[in-house]
Amino acid sequence: ITHLVWLRNDLRWTDNPALYFASLAAQSTNDGIAVLVTPTPAQWREHNESDAKNSLRAGLISHLSKALAERGIPLHCLDTDSFESAPNRIRDFCLENSIQHIWFNSDIPVHEQQRDQAVCALLNEHHIESHIQAADLLVSQPVLSQQGTPFKVFTPFFNKWVTLLAQQDITPLPAPETQAPALSWEPLHFDWETKYRDDLWPADQEIAKQKLWQFCHHKERHYQAKRDYPIEPGTSTLSPYLALGALGPRQCLEAIFYTCNQEEKRWQDSIWLKELAWRDFYRQLMGHFPTLSMNRPFKPETDALTWRQNESEFKAWCEGKTGFPIVDAAMRQLNQTGWMHNRLRMITASFCTKLLFADWRQGEAYFMSRLIDGEFAANNGGWQWSASTGCDAAPYFRVFNPTRQSETYDKEGDFIRRFVPELAKLDAKSIHNPKPEQRRRCGYPDPVIDYKSSRLAAIAAFDALKGK
Ligand code: FAD
Repeated sequence: ITHLVWLRNDLRWTDNPALYFASLAAQSTNDGIAVLVTPTPAQWREHNESDAKNSLRAGLISHLSKALAERGIPLHCLDTDSFESAPNRIRDFCLENSIQHIWFNSDIPVHEQQRDQAVCALLNEHHIESHIQAADLLVSQPVLSQQGTPFKVFTPFFNKWVTLLAQQDITPLPAPETQAPALSWEPLHFDWETKYRDDLWPADQEIAKQKLWQFCHHKERHYQAKRDYPIEPGTSTLSPYLALGALGPRQCLEAIFYTCNQEEKRWQDSIWLKELAWRDFYRQLMGHFPTLSMNRPFKPETDALTWRQNESEFKAWCEGKTGFPIVDAAMRQLNQTGWMHNRLRMITASFCTKLLFADWRQGEAYFMSRLIDGEFAANNGGWQWSASTGCDAAPYFRVFNPTRQSETYDKEGDFIRRFVPELAKLDAKSIHNPKPEQRRRCGYPDPVIDYKSSRLAAIAAFDALKGK
């Protein structure tokens, strides 16, 4: 074996450019490939990655190793703990195994890029060639305006992105060829895995793919109408698979093409496609603006805001005990399942940053520590959008009213009933903002803040930035 494929957040064997092209290259010289994964639990903890995500990751690595073993491709696991120790460990592994080529798909955040550059530099000293494939985006080249600058607003980005997408060959790449008789296989276990909702997200790339096609066959056409209602299973819930790369965005695009073709509509008009464009948008931004990976706001002037650091309010938000039923239901969904509906992510993030006026970085970190689909670019983008510190952000004076949002998007209160069972008996009118005596009867807390005055205080704080 002379070719090593290093997998990170691309835990799949189909449509994996590094794996596919390494296998082609090896075949052409009658060589073999091996696959390497380098768990870095200390690093993931530093990045606040959740137990749920890490457990799904563990399951996917094990599942991947089985599929590769069936093709005669060995998977090696090198515990590297942190990114800093990765280069030396990988170099030693390559030298011990006479590896001459390393293949991987590029990562975008700064820390990951630094790790990759260090690995390439060190391997280069030993004449081991690095082959870096494009990152996991639908349009991997920079999407730039006519002036050659990155877009800071989504809609023009999307228009250019769709044009570029139409010019690309986006057929998913096949799995690597079988290279030898099947290898014996035992399930892998890692000491950093814990429990997660594997009933909702089985660690199996094939199931992810089935979920994708079922969604496109049955739900994609209703996506626009249903996507904003948390009680409806209206979105794909594929995000954990996309975050860890068990599913690639090109596979999603293939399913969109097929579905739109069947329904005789233009694929460019698929509303679901737009969500995949948002995914690319935030990832590209992260590449263009490295300070985003360094805890800095996209709008530097917002660094001057003095966030209100009220620990007990923030704790109530984390635990789903704010006294705002829709916010609490959402936070409990996150805490219990590791996932939260997009409309609720917007409501809870707006609540946290505008009404509690908590630093968006605190909320971002808490989400990351709980989300099974925690993905740096999307999470950072979503938080900065909500806090009005970001790129193409919500205007600062638009503060979500949690009660209005609840009445609109959970009209009957059924989502609240599911996650806040103490309110289950309240009628559809009062459940969104129970009266004091109803709260007492149900054992449900009073609101931690007053909506009106908190909203005005947030707006005033942003207004005050204008003079600075
Ligand atoms: P669908 O509606 O079916 O969308 C399909 C896919 O498109 C998603 O799986 C996801 O990969 C991508 N996508 C959808 N919306 C967005 C978006 N706004 N930005 C980037 N990609 C998107 N998404 C994450 O994947 N990881 C995160 O850590 C994350 N944190 C968020 C934090 C906040 C405050 C907000 C407002 C949004 C966040 N999102 C995040 C985006 C979005 O909420 C989730 O992608 C979506 O809820 C996942 O559910 P789904 O798979 O059913 O999405």
